[in-house]
Amino acid sequence: MRRTIAIAVLAWGLAVGAPSFAQDLAVTEAARRAELIAALPADAAKRVFGLLKQPNAGPPRSIGSYAKGCIAGAVALPQDGATWQVMRPARNRFWGHPVLIAFIERIAAGLPAGWPGLLVGDIGQPRGGPMVTGHASHQIGLDADIWLTPMPEQRLTAAERDNLPAKSIVTADGNGVDPSVWGLPYRQLIETVARAPELARMFVNPAIKRALCHEAGADRAWLAKVRPWWGHDDHFHIRLNCPPGQTQCEAQEPVPPGDGCGKELDWWFTEEARHPKSGPPGKPLLVSQLPPDCAAVATAP
Ligand SMILES: [Zn+2]
Repeated sequence: MRRTIAIAVLAWGLAVGAPSFAQDLAVTEAARRAELIAALPADAAKRVFGLLKQPNAGPPRSIGSYAKGCIAGAVALPQDGATWQVMRPARNRFWGHPVLIAFIERIAAGLPAGWPGLLVGDIGQPRGGPMVTGHASHQIGLDADIWLTPMPEQRLTAAERDNLPAKSIVTADGNGVDPSVWGLPYRQLIETVARAPELARMFVNPAIKRALCHEAGADRAWLAKVRPWWGHDDHFHIRLNCPPGQTQCEAQEPVPPGDGCGKELDWWFTEEARHPKSGPPGKPLLVSQLPPDCAAVATAP
């Protein structure tokens, strides 16, 4: 079921990450990845970009759109900071535009009381591009997943980071947040991110948006950028605007005005939203179908 939804979303070609299996365990993910790579043509974009281990040098350039592009000059988020730890390091998806990496570090340095640190999930591949497993977006170094699990006091081992399961904070019926887990720090963390001017939008589970709509007071303009989306029950997804001067970066339509609560949110709890029809899987995108500069990004030393 969860995978059906993700496939449906990919099939629709919607420009967002909706991976309900994005935080899969290392072994599961590696096995699925190997299987998928073997089945892909040699010039499939997700195969080519998925096999690249290092970024290329030079100034950072986000090229294309969040769900169809690549990045040159990406940098890594260090595996550890005082208030963050990188999860799933074996996947090598901790690369992003320096503006995004600095953003994550800044959020981590100014966390609300009660949220001890960030567990950072997938950012992007060393040169961005589509991924063999997990995401439709995260391609130009401006998207990142943050776990909805507070950072533990201890430093996690590499094995723990690759294998600790991410825990959903949404009730089994999908209607609300788990009251035994949800609390003020969750709202404050999401609100802190949502208020950042560089943020284009963020994705949360509809049940989380519902809780936020319910709890927000009169000052609720920040809710506009908090978008409901499938999955995202154990992490949220942040997406930054194209940084100034990034002329090859394609911006997305801005979020509609309003807090996005009420009718618009209600749709997410209908049968139609919960059981989207999945179309046949599309043909894999080839490197030649990405923005032209991405072929050079893929082959540069
Ligand atoms: Zn994501």
